Amino acid sequence: MKKFIEKCYKCNAGVKAARSVKESISLDCLKCIKCGEEYFTSSELVRFDILKGTRRLVRKFGVLGSSTIARIPNSIVEELNIKPGDYGVFEKRPDGILIRPYHAGDLGKQPRTRM
Ligand SMILES: [Zn+2]
Repeated sequence: MKKFIEKCYKCNAGVKAARSVKESISLDCLKCIKCGEEYFTSSELVRFDILKGTRRLVRKFGVLGSSTIARIPNSIVEELNIKPGDYGVFEKRPDGILIRPYHAGDLGKQPRTRM
């Protein structure tokens, strides 16, 4: 594992790569050789949340026919007022995907761009 810190923030001693078991899930960490403080990367903590089912905005990818699907969390659907028939435009980002919703009812009101 990449050494993302060199020294313990608590006691300033060195750290070494280690495994830590939290609630029966094994996680990579950096552990202080003196006081035993453990340091985790954010991706390890996300992995823990996913495996424990405690991360609210995580959905599993699935397959429907020849498509890959993922369900949108209800809280997001409600907050963004997404209705059946609306569109989601996918934008690739360096760190993932952004889905930008467009409401079907608003599309007719937009000024048209000549092609
Ligand atoms: Zn320490």
